[in-house]
Amino acid sequence: MSYVTKSPWVIHYDGSSCNGCDIEVLACLTPMYDVERFGIINTGNPKHADVFLVTGSVNEQNKEVVKQIYSQMPEPKVVVAIGICANNGGVFKECYNILGGVDTVIPVDVYVPGCAARPEAIIDGVVKGLGVLQEKRNAMNGNTAAPAIDAEPAEKEEA
Ligand code: SF4
Repeated sequence: MSYVTKSPWVIHYDGSSCNGCDIEVLACLTPMYDVERFGIINTGNPKHADVFLVTGSVNEQNKEVVKQIYSQMPEPKVVVAIGICANNGGVFKECYNILGGVDTVIPVDVYVPGCAARPEAIIDGVVKGLGVLQEKRNAMNGNTAAPAIDAEPAEKEEA
């Protein structure tokens, strides 16, 4: 974590989840899992956020909200899709109103599997996202000499 040069702020949006993944995201913010030890703070303002945590799948009603939150976040930014619904629609994939996962409307950097996603997996996904964030920051600054990040390429879970 030595490559984190500032406290990354996250914003959480529940697309159309059953709230299972949202409870786990909230658990990460409690003293039990304590993501604040990484300097991570939850904000309600996309203009202050570096990392976009999305739970649930994308549908006709929320697609514009997801796009708007994403567009209001400053560059560089990272999107973490949490849970199989956010990955690809999950159990709701075939429903008439479901368009699919978060990547149907915005680019996703990290896919966190699970139904519900476990707090440990969410924290792992966010930390990977911080690596991607630093890579993007380096690219924006034209800095290729910065520490290498061990973030792996995003892999998508199949339902
Ligand atoms: S992945 Fe499972 S727990 Fe998470 S929102 Fe979808 S159905 Fe709920």
